[in-house]
Amino acid sequence: MKYALVTGGSRGIGKAVCLKFAQMGIPVLINYHSNETAALDVLKCVRSIGGTVDLLQFDVASEKDVSRAIERWEDGHPDDYIAYLVNNAGIRKDNLMFMMPEQDWHDVIDVTLNGFYYVTRKLLPKMMMRRHGGRIINMASLSGLKGMPGQTNYSAAKGALIGATKALAQETASRNVTVNAIAPGFIESDMTKDLPQEELKKLVPMNRFGRPEEVAALVGFLCSDESGYITGEVININGGLYS
Ligand code: NAP
Repeated sequence: MKYALVTGGSRGIGKAVCLKFAQMGIPVLINYHSNETAALDVLKCVRSIGGTVDLLQFDVASEKDVSRAIERWEDGHPDDYIAYLVNNAGIRKDNLMFMMPEQDWHDVIDVTLNGFYYVTRKLLPKMMMRRHGGRIINMASLSGLKGMPGQTNYSAAKGALIGATKALAQETASRNVTVNAIAPGFIESDMTKDLPQEELKKLVPMNRFGRPEEVAALVGFLCSDESGYITGEVININGGLYS
């Protein structure tokens, strides 16, 4: 069976993506870092709509953790493989550059950029060998395109992820594996709950934050057969805030 792995699938956009895969009839692996309660809740939701699902706990920023968890899953599933990978796990540690602690710089780069590297490198050989239309979706951000003040670490990590998306897409195209990035604007989730939504939504032409399900719908399309000729793209989903 072809599985989907969603990193950071326990909350927000990742949770909506897990549910989308279940609706599409694709078995899903929910990765989470520390919030087991939230991950179990997503597991229950996926099961309640008849989806096949497992939890896969690991820290995307730890190469050892990533390798161990994926190898253990592969050992237990000799006839299955991960054909859809959504590199969605991400964190924010905002600060003006001149006040940013070194650890906050590294933490954000480690989760977003190194996490992408560890998980994708681990899964890529099988995806490329099978030539069955593998899909890699990287959750970037408007910050990675435009740059956001107070987010030099986050903007750098997401900008680098976009560069990596474009490079990798060219490496894997002949093996029928597409690689695309999604760049959301403001989406309602735990990550944005501390932001002044009433103020910020005035900046958005649609006058609202997006919903995780709207991002998940785009992931669903990029993982469908219909999107097979789209690769190396960055797709904005931001209510008209930036293009
Ligand atoms: P969220 O609600 O804060 O959820 C973050 C998810 O990432 C959680 O499932 C969390 O797992 C997981 N995670 C964090 N660090 C991890 C690690 N080291 N290893 C594995 N999983 C880890 O965030 P969100 O708003 O859904 O954002 C999802 C993605 O979209 C992120 O990459 C974010 O940068 C991007 N994005 C979001 C927005 C927005 O407005 N919300 C806009 C642009 C881009 P635990 O539950 O275990 O903590």
